[in-house]
Amino acid sequence: MASMYLALGYLCNHRCFFCPCGEKNGLTPFGEKAQLLHAIDVGIRDRGIDHITLSGGEPTLHPDFHHILKYCVDHGLQVSVLSNGDSLADKDRTAALFEDVDPRSVSVTTAIHSDLPSIHERVTDVPGSFLRTVQGLLNLVHLGIPVTVKQVISRWNYDRLPDFVDFVYKSYGPFVSLTLCGMDFCGMTGEQIARVAVDYPTMGSSLEQALDFVISLRQQFGAFPQVTVADLPLCSVDPFYWGFFTKVSRSCLSQYSAPERKTGAVNLHTEVENDCNIYFRACEGCCVADQCPGVWHSAYRYFGESVAKRILPYVEE
Ligand code: SF4
Ligand code: SF4
Repeated sequence: MASMYLALGYLCNHRCFFCPCGEKNGLTPFGEKAQLLHAIDVGIRDRGIDHITLSGGEPTLHPDFHHILKYCVDHGLQVSVLSNGDSLADKDRTAALFEDVDPRSVSVTTAIHSDLPSIHERVTDVPGSFLRTVQGLLNLVHLGIPVTVKQVISRWNYDRLPDFVDFVYKSYGPFVSLTLCGMDFCGMTGEQIARVAVDYPTMGSSLEQALDFVISLRQQFGAFPQVTVADLPLCSVDPFYWGFFTKVSRSCLSQYSAPERKTGAVNLHTEVENDCNIYFRACEGCCVADQCPGVWHSAYRYFGESVAKRILPYVEE
């Protein structure tokens, strides 16, 4: 699969404290439609892409979102939309945004930061955003659009992971996809990282309890066929849970396009820095390194070697 990442602009209706997007930073709100479509054409013609990620800012706020989405689908691309879901709370607006788009060609991934509104809104800094995001995803589910609920694990939510699984199951039913993932601290100050970082040994037991709950829901109700853990090291949990871990390969990313932050001109970068799947020096000799997702480079820098627990091959006595 050859993939392209396209940011439609930097306007966002949330104000996540760690995010450089949004009007407050004086970035260009939207890329021009003609330039965005040109970038897609280049991706298809010159790089042979068959998948595209539409991102932002909040991509669904772009005035031409529907047109751009439909253009991608009509050109045979599989489309992943990264949305905070807030602007999808209005049922009619959401139906219009996804009108005439084959639901099999599109999926939406949305981060919900906790099952508790107070924690979610502590991250987004927008009152009422929790309920709107929850409703937005429900609207997508009713339209038949595949949804992945994502939780980026932080100090603020790691101890409620089992509650979060319960919340997702009760809110969206048995067939929604769920991703639990490690945080990328890229662009954050040391002070910001210290507010939200939780190390892997500390989060491990809560993650195991959450996955136990997933297993029991699968056994009882056939729920949660698609649950993945990403950007976290295998040694953060017992080997019993390793089947959930996915090594996300960003190496198939053939093009990265986004409006230049000040001018708004849409670029066509092909050099994409690999800042994930990073391993510690302590991983040397670990017998599961090939299967381990590793961590974000920013997490490697922050946590240091002590969080890696090398797995040694089993030797029969
Ligand atoms: S929702 Fe996404 S783009 Fe918007 S402020 Fe939060 S992290 Fe940034
Ligand atoms: S020691 Fe390194 S390679 Fe092995 S499981 Fe831990 S992070 Fe992964």
